Amino acid sequence: MAIATINPATGETLRSFESLSDADVKNAISLADKAFEDYRKTSFEQRAEWMHKAADILEADKANFAELMTLEMGKPFKSAMAEVGKCAVVCRYYADNAAKFLADVLVETDASKSFVKYQPLGIILAVMPWNFPFWQVFRFVAPALMAGNVGLLKHASNVPQCALAIEKIIQTAGFPQGVFQSLLIGSDKVANIISDDRVKAATLTGSEGAGASLAAAAGKHLKKTVLELGGSDPFIVLASADIEAAAVTGTTARMLNNGQSCIAAKRFIVEEPVADKFEKLLLEQFQALRIGDPMQEDTNIGPLATHDILKELDQQVQKSISGGAKVLMGGKPLLNMKGNYYPPTILTDISPDSATAKEEFFGPVAMLFRVKNIDEAIKIANNTPFGLGASAWTTDTTQQQRLISEIEAGAVFINGLVKSDPRLPFGGIKLSGYGRELSIQGIHEFVNVKTVWMK
Ligand code: NDP
Repeated sequence: MAIATINPATGETLRSFESLSDADVKNAISLADKAFEDYRKTSFEQRAEWMHKAADILEADKANFAELMTLEMGKPFKSAMAEVGKCAVVCRYYADNAAKFLADVLVETDASKSFVKYQPLGIILAVMPWNFPFWQVFRFVAPALMAGNVGLLKHASNVPQCALAIEKIIQTAGFPQGVFQSLLIGSDKVANIISDDRVKAATLTGSEGAGASLAAAAGKHLKKTVLELGGSDPFIVLASADIEAAAVTGTTARMLNNGQSCIAAKRFIVEEPVADKFEKLLLEQFQALRIGDPMQEDTNIGPLATHDILKELDQQVQKSISGGAKVLMGGKPLLNMKGNYYPPTILTDISPDSATAKEEFFGPVAMLFRVKNIDEAIKIANNTPFGLGASAWTTDTTQQQRLISEIEAGAVFINGLVKSDPRLPFGGIKLSGYGRELSIQGIHEFVNVKTVWMK
């Protein structure tokens, strides 16, 4: 994939970049390794000062960073503004909590003193996607750097200017040279980086294919990975739920980021008695969405990030239709618009066992399933190779407990939108990956948990 900024709203190539050479990559690894020698010895107070500065820079230049994201991958500008704000929050969260999360933990044993000590590992490679081009990187950078690690970023090839802007933020915040570097490279260079002895671990957010490839390369060299992959989150609506609220939140949950979010609600599973009402309300909500230039304040749905994503999504939709699915709205690319536009789409009558029902739709397409009861709802919710998040709507407390314990996912949200929050762990099971980001669990992923025993 070419490393370039291609405006998804127009298809115009605005800027292209040469990939770094193998020698450039080696130099970057050497610089990171050298930086780690001193950086690991810096205090939490010092790191926190720099991390707070990074948050200040994000907030001070919010509109410019947001514009860059929208330009490169097409998310509505107002969502991009919110994303920059959230990056500042995660920087501050780890700046304020890292020392507490990584403090020695005393454990009583037969020793005169024994304790657990957390130490940084060294260079961590982050392979990141384009869908939340700032957030995905900052939720890695903030804990990794606060723990005393140094980072190398291989960002998605369609967001090179975001990658460079993030590197600049970290440098301007005061972090020493080499502590965080963006490498403009294609994915073909990733395995080689992992094979370098000085690179200690890696994290990837993206597709299962990319995750499996990174994990295989890392496994060959016995290095740890954290993977945050796709999802096909269920959005369950049972009869006792507040149906209006569910339809409003369900629309946001499906359409966030033009439908390109791993934790978007992708499969709406609705109990029969309220299915007609929910379907009608969801349709109304979808019809009210404004599609257009993502830079405009009132746009709800912008273009998909790349032409390939548009093509793949449409192939999935057409396959579902030939398999018997009915189209309640949408269902075809908006060819009258320049750019990668796909309309909000609702598919019904999909067989829960069809291949389509088990795939991830990375765009504004909702699948609607009708179920007889909670048993069937849970069965369909779990009938997917993914296990990232789930949103379930019911006011019945017994049903809530069942949903919490029986849904196979890394997160269950009752009567609310699945979202990431720096204070809560984030990650999946099954093909959605392993390991956790955010919260105390996130900062513990890339540290040496050292046991100390003293007589
Ligand atoms: P990819 O998984 O291909 O890209 C994500 C990142 O991984 C990019 O930096 C990419 O680099 C890199 N990458 C790709 N292949 C490899 C590899 N073999 N080894 C190492 N790194 C690799 O996502 P796409 O952009 O192609 O999107 C395809 C699908 O992935 C989507 O439709 C969606 O299902 C899923 N996805 C999920 C995301 C999530 O948030 N969980 C985010 C993005 C995508 P490069 O850009 O250079 O190819």
